[in-house]
Amino acid sequence: MIKAKKCLIRGTVQGVGFRPWVYRLALQYHLKGFVRNTSHGATIEIEGEDRDLQDFVRLIRSEPPAHCHFTKCHFTNIACQGFDQFLILPSLDENQHDALILPDIASCPDCIKETFDRNDRRYLYPFTNCTHCGPRYSIIKSLPYDRCNTSMDKFKMCKACQKEYDDPLDRRFHAQPNACPLCGPQITLWDDQGNAIASSRESLPATVDIIKRGGIVAIKGLGGFCLMADALNEDAVGLLRMRKARPHKPLALMMPSLEMTDQYCQLEPIEAELLSSSQAPIVLLRKAPLSQTPKIARQAAPDNPYLGCMLPSMPLLHILLRMLNRPVVATSGNLSEEPICIDNAQALKRLKGIADFFLVHDRPIVRHVDDSIVQAVCNKTSILRRARGYAPLPFDIGKDCDGILATGAHQKNTVALGLGSSVIMSQHIGTLDNEVSCQAFEGTISSLKSIYDAPTTKVACDSHPDYASNRYAHAFKKNVLEVQHHHAHVASCMAEHGLSQEVLGVCWDGTGYGPDGTIWGGEFLVTNGRKFSRIAHLKLFALPGGELAVREPKRTALGLLFGLCKGNWQDFKDLPSVKAFNPKELLIIQQMITQKINSPLTSSMGRLFDGIASLTGLCHHISYEGQAAMALEYQVIDKFKLDPYYYEIIPEDYKLKIQSIDWSGIVRGIIDDIRAGENVGLISTRFHLTLVGMIVDIAYQANKPDVVLTGGCFQNKWLVENAVKRLKEEGFKPHWHSQVPTNDGGISLGQMFVAAKRRK
Ligand code: ZN
Ligand code: ZN
Ligand code: FE
Repeated sequence: MIKAKKCLIRGTVQGVGFRPWVYRLALQYHLKGFVRNTSHGATIEIEGEDRDLQDFVRLIRSEPPAHCHFTKCHFTNIACQGFDQFLILPSLDENQHDALILPDIASCPDCIKETFDRNDRRYLYPFTNCTHCGPRYSIIKSLPYDRCNTSMDKFKMCKACQKEYDDPLDRRFHAQPNACPLCGPQITLWDDQGNAIASSRESLPATVDIIKRGGIVAIKGLGGFCLMADALNEDAVGLLRMRKARPHKPLALMMPSLEMTDQYCQLEPIEAELLSSSQAPIVLLRKAPLSQTPKIARQAAPDNPYLGCMLPSMPLLHILLRMLNRPVVATSGNLSEEPICIDNAQALKRLKGIADFFLVHDRPIVRHVDDSIVQAVCNKTSILRRARGYAPLPFDIGKDCDGILATGAHQKNTVALGLGSSVIMSQHIGTLDNEVSCQAFEGTISSLKSIYDAPTTKVACDSHPDYASNRYAHAFKKNVLEVQHHHAHVASCMAEHGLSQEVLGVCWDGTGYGPDGTIWGGEFLVTNGRKFSRIAHLKLFALPGGELAVREPKRTALGLLFGLCKGNWQDFKDLPSVKAFNPKELLIIQQMITQKINSPLTSSMGRLFDGIASLTGLCHHISYEGQAAMALEYQVIDKFKLDPYYYEIIPEDYKLKIQSIDWSGIVRGIIDDIRAGENVGLISTRFHLTLVGMIVDIAYQANKPDVVLTGGCFQNKWLVENAVKRLKEEGFKPHWHSQVPTNDGGISLGQMFVAAKRRK
């Protein structure tokens, strides 16, 4: 019997070969009707034999093509229309724009094969792509996702490309960025004045030659520029560091292949999977104990047991890396915390003095999308920077958040937009302390709002009055909701895992605005997302010099010691942190703390890490965020059994039931170990074990089954893995971040969750 069905699909179905797949399926089951893109997603109307229809429905639901992501797929029975064939109809442009945009997708194996096939018309063509791969988010100007709404609109397809584009049975059917050497974008090699010195295919060997000779080339990739140098050449890497004014922060590497990555790093199966995934992120990998020669320059990641490695994500990079046949440094084309450059002329200006040459192309990048950074924690993905490959895929938080805009944190800023119950979280933007970042912040908000045609009815922001993201929110005047920083961290993890019951949130990070005028950061909160109560925190200590103490952990160490000796530094004159100051400086710091001059009080766990890193002599000054805490983490030895340090949990406020965790015993224990000549590895291990014990102790007191671990301190892999293990052993259900950064990059999602929870 002939029946008819209609299906409305929402989600990421555009630009992934969904319609041709439906077309082929319809032909296979002799069904008639049509499929078309709409601004919501896609619509299918179909009629045929009942049994065939049922098979069709089952396959649509169970085996959609890779990269398809349905948020809704609903079939209803309708009356037969009497279609005589199956067609792919042109897109319907409706007023609402809630079809979801796909992230950029790394080159698929078929496209790579063609790019390196001498007989293929796309041989060595840097922009080869198909419906399974290629740029998406970085080229979309508006929805629906059609070529005329992308930055490919200026390239007119040649006959051969158009034929592929029009053929439902071709891999490039409706591949919007489809192109070939005849009709598509081209590369050009510029000197540092912008003079073309090689064009098209000649640019490739010329670029390779410059890098092999120790030069630095700025290369325009998928979502922005990167700076490339030979990773085996110590001088080249040193030069890049000097020019970028980046003395210590690890530089990312790009490897020609998984095989070569395996020679330089210890690869776990999940890490190999992440490297070769269609997101092609930077994966933090343990350096191999005896890596192959030639060795990677020491300065690529000095004093760091990890290397951040990625594989090429587009044909241009595949070609260059295959020609180079060696690891290269491929770091963001930017100045410190600014967003990466996306425009040729702007790159020439901003990267002047850093890059010797510029390999540019004429496919405009609509928005900057950095390389994502991930690590494997508890054998699962943990995204530390969510950008290329992941953004702007939505999170469904199961609550109405339509019309809410969340402006995120100050550092590692991301913003989020609510559409129905879906949250579109932006790509990583950066720290909002410079003009370029603030422009990118505002640009990202306005472009997301215009693409999705989403008017803002409510704004959620951090409660820190000095943050640019807070000021931006308050410009809306009404319907502004301030969300406390650590509450947002916990809510972010709850949103990711669909938790709405009361949980214990263990939120440890560097800095967050506390409503009581102190700097929070070592917090235990009980929350259902809507409201929170602070049940415990680290005992307060002073940060002499405020912001300066963040850059100089030796100051934080004195803040801790002050808690023990009240400024009588003589007691501790043998310690490295005290020795790092002269007597006059010590006196000034004592006065600053005593008289409360520029010495804010904090309960920050990040700062406790800093102070201890300095006490042990590991690090008195930092040049990038998290440097001291990481130095301490890297000292942990897993081999032998040790006792934790002693600490006390002291009731602070009986009425409010707040407890203060006194770390004095920890610091005393560490000083005893230093004086006993114990090594830093032992001290760091005992410190880490103490923290795991602290989490379990407070978990018992809070007596909530679900324990959420969140905040920048949980980028520490050892800490997460061991806290999770212990909590499970004690019968708790631990939750930690996976798809959303545990650092401030996840704050916008948390703000959104709190705002949605408060709605009714
Ligand atoms: Zn492809
Ligand atoms: Zn062509
Ligand atoms: Fe934070």
